[in-house]
Amino acid sequence: MSTQASVTRMEKIVSLCKRRGLIFQSSEIYGGLNGFWDYGPLGAELKRNVKELWWKSMTRLRDDIVGLEATIIMHPQIWKASGHVDTFSDPMSTCRACKKLVRSDQVWEMLETVSWAESLRNLCPEGKPDVDGLLKWAKGKGAKVVPNLALIKDPEAVLANLAARSSEASSTQSVLQILCTSASEGPLSTPCPHCGGELTEPRPFNLMFKTYVGPAATEDDIAYLRPETAQAIFVQFKNVLETSRVKVPFGICQIGKAFRNEVTPRNFTFRSREFEQMELEFFIKPDEVVSAQHGKVASLENDPSPSEPKGDWGWEVWHKYWVEERFRWYASIGLKRSSLEEYWQKPEELAHYARATVDILYKFPFGTQELEGIAARGNFDLSQHQQFSGKSMEYFDQEANSKYVPHVIEPSAGVDRLILALICEAFEEEEVADDKGQKEVRTVLRFSPRVAPIKVGIFPLLKNKPELVKKALEIRDLLRPHMNVFYDDGGAIGRRYRRQDEAGTPFCVTIDFDTIGENGPEKQDTVTLRHRDSMTQERIRICDLLQIIQSQIL
Ligand code: ATP
Repeated sequence: MSTQASVTRMEKIVSLCKRRGLIFQSSEIYGGLNGFWDYGPLGAELKRNVKELWWKSMTRLRDDIVGLEATIIMHPQIWKASGHVDTFSDPMSTCRACKKLVRSDQVWEMLETVSWAESLRNLCPEGKPDVDGLLKWAKGKGAKVVPNLALIKDPEAVLANLAARSSEASSTQSVLQILCTSASEGPLSTPCPHCGGELTEPRPFNLMFKTYVGPAATEDDIAYLRPETAQAIFVQFKNVLETSRVKVPFGICQIGKAFRNEVTPRNFTFRSREFEQMELEFFIKPDEVVSAQHGKVASLENDPSPSEPKGDWGWEVWHKYWVEERFRWYASIGLKRSSLEEYWQKPEELAHYARATVDILYKFPFGTQELEGIAARGNFDLSQHQQFSGKSMEYFDQEANSKYVPHVIEPSAGVDRLILALICEAFEEEEVADDKGQKEVRTVLRFSPRVAPIKVGIFPLLKNKPELVKKALEIRDLLRPHMNVFYDDGGAIGRRYRRQDEAGTPFCVTIDFDTIGENGPEKQDTVTLRHRDSMTQERIRICDLLQIIQSQIL
C-alpha cells in the first residue's frame, strides 16, 4: 500500500519532471490526453541514452544478435495468428452511477489508495464493522465524498443488509462490498473507486487501437497499431536468417513504439497508451535437438548462474542466462539490485504457450511493479505464423543435421517504465549548507553518468570577463563532439551547480582566474571539476578533461 511519504515522493518526482523538462503531459495546452506523455529536452536525451545503451549491449557488443526496425502498422493477419485479436483484452467494468470505466482486476488495488475507502476500512477493523461509526460517517463526511455509495444513499437499509448478510462478511473486503451493494440478496457489488457507485460485471475489452488502411475505410481495411514490437521479429525471422549469416542460437532485437488502449492509464508514465518497448527474441534449438547433438542437455543444477553461452544449453539454462543478463544490464545503468525484484510466475499464471516467465520488478514509490518480462515461449509464435501464412518457419541446422522450428526466449522491456524507474532511483533531497552556511534543500538526480541527459556543465566564473568566456567556449567545443554539454554563465556558481544537480549532470567544469594564468603559470590551463554526488572539486588539466569524463560515461 502507498504510504503518505511515498505519495509525496511521487508528487515531487512528477513536479520535478515537469519543472526541469523531463516529462510533460501530451497536448497539455488542450487539457492533456490521458495516457499520453511527451519527453522534454532532458527527458529526450535520457531516453535516447537508455535506448542507445540497450541497443549497443544487444547488438554491437555481441556476435549473436542483430537488429530490426519494422513498421508500426502491419498485416492484420499477424494479430490473428499471434492471438491478439481474440485474446488481448483486459477485464473492464463500468460504474453504473458515474459511467467511468475501470479495469476490473485493478479495482481493489485502486481502492487501497483512495481516502474514502481508507475511512471505511478504519471503521471495519478486521472485518468487524463499527455500526454507529458507519452511520455517523454516512450522514456526515462520507456523503460529501462518495455520494453514489449504497451506504450513503440508504444507510439504514444497507446497515440492515450488513446484519442480515453477516455470514458473507468474512473480511474487510467483503464488508466493503456489502456496504456498496444496495440489494439485500444476490451477488455483492464492487464499488467504483471514483464515486462509490456499483460496477458492472467485468467484460473483455480488446486493447488494440484500430485504424483503416487506405481511403475506403471498410471493415476489410481494418488494421491495428502494434501492441508490441515482438511480432514483427517473428514475421521477418526468415528474411533476417537468409540475409545475416546468423545461426541458431541467435537473436533479433528491436526498439520501437507500441500502443495499447489501456482501460485505466495511471501512475504517471507507468501505464501509458503509447509507449516504447525494447524487445529481443532469442532463437534456440529445441531440447531434443540439443540432446541428439550433444548427448545431453545442460541443466541449471550444473550451472545455476549461467554466464558464458555453451552449445549444450537447453531452454531452461538459456532462460536463466537471459534473466541474469538483464539484471547485469540494469546494474550497469544504475539500478541497484536492492531496488529490483525477481518474480517467477506461478504455473497457473503462465500464458498457455509459456514454459516459464520471470518478471523483473522495480520498487516504484507507488508499489513494486513490472519493468520487464522474460518469457520462454517455446516455438508458439513461429509455428502460429507458419500456420497462418503458409510459409515455412523451419531452420536447417547444419551442425545438428536437423530441421526444426526454433524455440524462443523473449526479454521484453518497456523504455518508459525504465525511464520512470531511473528517475525514481536517482531522485534525492538532502540538506546542505549554502555559500553563507545557511541550510537548504538540495534536489539531486543521481543518474549514472552513462544515462545522464547532460554529462557536463561548463561555467565561466564571470560572464563579463572575455578571457574566461573565451576559454570556457573552447572547452565547450572540445567536449561537445563527444557528449551532451551545457554551457551556463548565469548567476552565482553555487546556483549553477544546483541547477545541474537537479538535471542529474554528473560533472561541472568551472573556468576561473587560475585557468587563464592570472595566478601563475603552474595553474594555467587547469579547471575545477566538480563531482555531483560527493560535491568535491578537483583541479585538473584541460588536456586531461575529455579522457577523465569519457571514461565514466561510456
Ligand atoms: P502489465 O501487466 O503491466 O500490463 P504486460 O505484462 O502486459 O504488462 P508485456 O506485454 O509483457 O507487459 O510488455 C512488456 C513490457 O512492455 C512490460 O514489461 C512493460 O515494461 C512495457 N509495457 C507494457 N504495457 C505498458 C504500458 N501500458 N505502458 C508502459 N509500458 C508498458
